[in-house]
Amino acid sequence: MMAQIIDGKSFAARLRLRIAADVVTLASRGITPGLAVVLVGEDPASQVYVRSKGRMTREVGMTSFEHRLPAETDQETLLALIAQLNADAAVNGILVQLPLPPHMDEAAVINAIAPDKDVDGFHILNVGRLATGQKAMVPCTPLGCLMLLRDHLGTLSGRNAVVIGRSNIVGKPMAQLLLRDSATVTVAHSRTADLPALCRQADILVAAVGRPNFVQGAWIKPGATVIDVGINRTEEGLVGDVHQASAMPVAGALTPVPGGVGPMTIACLLANTLTATRRAAGLPDPEGLTP
Ligand code: NDP
Repeated sequence: MMAQIIDGKSFAARLRLRIAADVVTLASRGITPGLAVVLVGEDPASQVYVRSKGRMTREVGMTSFEHRLPAETDQETLLALIAQLNADAAVNGILVQLPLPPHMDEAAVINAIAPDKDVDGFHILNVGRLATGQKAMVPCTPLGCLMLLRDHLGTLSGRNAVVIGRSNIVGKPMAQLLLRDSATVTVAHSRTADLPALCRQADILVAAVGRPNFVQGAWIKPGATVIDVGINRTEEGLVGDVHQASAMPVAGALTPVPGGVGPMTIACLLANTLTATRRAAGLPDPEGLTP
């Protein structure tokens, strides 16, 4: 039997409709969520991301503020802009597009964002809040993976989860979220011994490696739920970190690339902006959009 395809694209579309409905409700209270995206430099991939983030922000009825600064901007200027956005009541979420030019200190810039407006969830306070089970802003990609997993599996409690990758953006927060849902979590990385054997024990396998077609079908436990976070541009087009053709006959369910985790990331950015807006107004968190 072939794996069920976990359709992140349509899940994300439904999520955006839900968010748009909540934005309408907020409008009746005179509140319009605002998301500020800051891009430093002309990196082509970043420009594409920033454009689509702006478009989707407007589509759900939020206000999009875009700030484009030249690559040679000094850090003080960027920090001054962040301070201005922190103080602006019309701005509920702030996202600084990464990577920053090499002359900037990425951690210092991210930690200058007001934690409650840190819709990427990368501020050190949000990292700590997530790790200690407190109300946090949660990184968008792992939040999207969590939503897909919960939707597909119901409870994650007691399941064996293996996360391949230990980045601050995907792997580590993904592991925290799975742990929070009472999965038994192992984080693998480039020094992990016998990765295929480890993967074969996983009921939930999350691949966030950045290597095209890396995870083979023979590594997958029959019936496992496989989340492919990878986005790799190759001569054959966009491919994930999982070798989809060999995974399909083994896995129970699998996210495709494209159309799996990718669309969830931007939808979760909008979800986080909505959450930040509601928290700033003293309203309860939107149901199902936070861990
Ligand atoms: P990083 O490069 O920061 O991290 C990759 C991780 O994979 C590292 O922890 C690394 O281990 C591990 N790794 C590398 N080689 C191996 C190996 N041979 N065996 C086991 N582990 C290995 O990547 P990101 O976490 O930022 O991104 C991962 C992937 O997800 C990329 O393809 C990226 O494009 C994609 N991505 C997709 C998003 C989306 O919206 N769908 C959003 C963000 C990322 P070590 O730490 O030991 O070096």
